[in-house]
Amino acid sequence: MFAPIVLGSDKTTVSVATGQNDFYPLYMSLGNVHNSVRRAHRNAVALIGFLSVPKTSQDHADGADFRKFRRQLFHSSLEHILSSVRPYMTTPRVTMCEDGHYRRVVYGLGPYIADYPEQALLACIVQNWCAKCTAPPNDLDGDLTGQRSHVHTDTLLHSGEITLQELWDDYGIVGELLPFTTAFPRADIHELLSPDLLHQIIKGTFKDHLVDWVTQWIKQTYPKAQANRILADIDRRIAVVPSFPGLRHFHEGRGFKQWTGNDSKGLMKVYLSAISGHVPKQMVKAVAALIEFCYLVRRSIIDEDTLVQIDAALAQFHEHREVFREDIRPEGFSLPRQHSLVHYHFMITQYGAPNGLCLSITESKHIKAVKKPYRRSSRNKPLGQMLVSNQRNDKLAAARVNFQARGMLTVNVAPSDPVDDALSREVNETGAVEEPLAEAEVKLAKTYVRNLPRDLHMLSVKINQPRLPLLIRQFLYTTLNPDSPIPASQIQHEDLPHISGKIFVYNSARAVFYAPSDLSGLGGMRHERIRSTSSWYGGAPRRDCVFVANTDAPDAVGFSGLHVARVFLFFSFAHLDVAYQCALVHWFSAVGDSPDEETGMWMVNPDFRGGRRALAVIHLDMVLRGAHLLGAAGSNFLPTDATFDFSKSLDSFHTFYVNKYVDYHAHEVAF
Ligand SMILES: [Zn+2]
Repeated sequence: MFAPIVLGSDKTTVSVATGQNDFYPLYMSLGNVHNSVRRAHRNAVALIGFLSVPKTSQDHADGADFRKFRRQLFHSSLEHILSSVRPYMTTPRVTMCEDGHYRRVVYGLGPYIADYPEQALLACIVQNWCAKCTAPPNDLDGDLTGQRSHVHTDTLLHSGEITLQELWDDYGIVGELLPFTTAFPRADIHELLSPDLLHQIIKGTFKDHLVDWVTQWIKQTYPKAQANRILADIDRRIAVVPSFPGLRHFHEGRGFKQWTGNDSKGLMKVYLSAISGHVPKQMVKAVAALIEFCYLVRRSIIDEDTLVQIDAALAQFHEHREVFREDIRPEGFSLPRQHSLVHYHFMITQYGAPNGLCLSITESKHIKAVKKPYRRSSRNKPLGQMLVSNQRNDKLAAARVNFQARGMLTVNVAPSDPVDDALSREVNETGAVEEPLAEAEVKLAKTYVRNLPRDLHMLSVKINQPRLPLLIRQFLYTTLNPDSPIPASQIQHEDLPHISGKIFVYNSARAVFYAPSDLSGLGGMRHERIRSTSSWYGGAPRRDCVFVANTDAPDAVGFSGLHVARVFLFFSFAHLDVAYQCALVHWFSAVGDSPDEETGMWMVNPDFRGGRRALAVIHLDMVLRGAHLLGAAGSNFLPTDATFDFSKSLDSFHTFYVNKYVDYHAHEVAF
């Protein structure tokens, strides 16, 4: 068995009343563990040490000697920490595995996860150069580059013709140091530095570059008052986005002091429709291409076709970002994090899907492994105490698993990761489910609404849906006569089946589906709650949208095989001893037969016939999952009165984008 050691390090700060403390944890995981396990926070990522953060007096801090010492200390520490497994990188070690079998295990260094400035430190290269290729720092995305490798550096060093200064200036190599990987067999840091979706794409290229550039462009192009009005409208468009399970709600005036990775991930989902119409089309296309790239590389399964799509999205991004060159980036696009995108294709063919190998894993581990143990410590020489806390927590977790396996302990508590209070309302809305891999299904909530009439006609009056009885009878006719050549809408009313039983109304339905690219259970399953309620948490009504299978195009792929509908009622009834779980829906129709060219998302309009909503009753079996629609405002400004908010969006716009970026599963079905 080959056991690749996955490493990650990332500085973090713990601030308490008495001041700030910097810690530099080193985390380890094994490449043998499935990504879904690693992301599910099941202790597959362990703290193995704290790297030192050397300090010196002000007058030495910028000195060459101190910098060299700091770099050298970093590499020597890593080498020392890993030295205990080095013998078993060439000679197998017989090890008893979790399943009780003995295996001969050979260890090796696997991917190293680090953010950019630290990548330069790890690879012993000069800041602003690429750790993977020799592209010059003023033209990172140019054509003429070669791969870096230990062999390449070694050849240069021992050629006898190049001085350390020339290595530094012409090759970006810090020649006086050797990366720690040179001390281990089959390891080359230039190959092992793994893609880091969080910092390179989400926080880096998307938030720090594109979003800032768009804002800057608006400020430079328009007089101040007009620019502020546009920026306020972009904020407002984001604030009125309809609710969706797992979607972060952005309040107006997003003046975040410090953007977290989750803020940026959330913004990606709703940003395109917010800027469309306010900035040049090519700018929207540039952002859309980057988001597309991000969603493709985030997939849990990447095949040859996906790689072709990834290359296409990157080419589009490089083409369309030129729109920023003249006004915003006259110096070009030589940005190490943005440049790293060109290496993703090769990295994926080398190591597989990067999903899960990203610093967002270590960021969530910081709380458990660093912040909480620090607060528990006496604060006097805390490092040793924090390591003991971690060891004990790991042992308790292992004991729990062992006790459970022996049937001594039944544990039904969910993994206890701290949940942001603001998000707690969403906890029941969506998330991973520990259910075996199975067909997707949508089921009504467990309990029905008590205070509504159960008689069909009284109900239809009460909820102001006068056509409900007829629509149910038409639905039943179609269900009972699947081969009828005459559509139910043309059958005489007296010939339709009669319904005498009780009708039960439900406020929500629960969809369970296979979504391994999103946060999901070990079987890759995920659930979400679809709402149709007259008052959501005591507030305005909430009527969610859903994807419905398009029975006319059973073989179509992507959005062509789907309809979008908005659910006005979830209900069940029985007819001739058969129970039916149904939804009263309002249909939407696709605009054109391809996605919008600017944003890459399909557009839909709500259907009206004779001035009335085009409604139908459908069986829940037809529903795939929830759909998220974004209002398309074009170049119009939204009304600024306070009564217009996210709960009114679905009733107010004439045209909507089908948001394929709301999560990774939507991206895989609504393209
Ligand atoms: Zn490069």
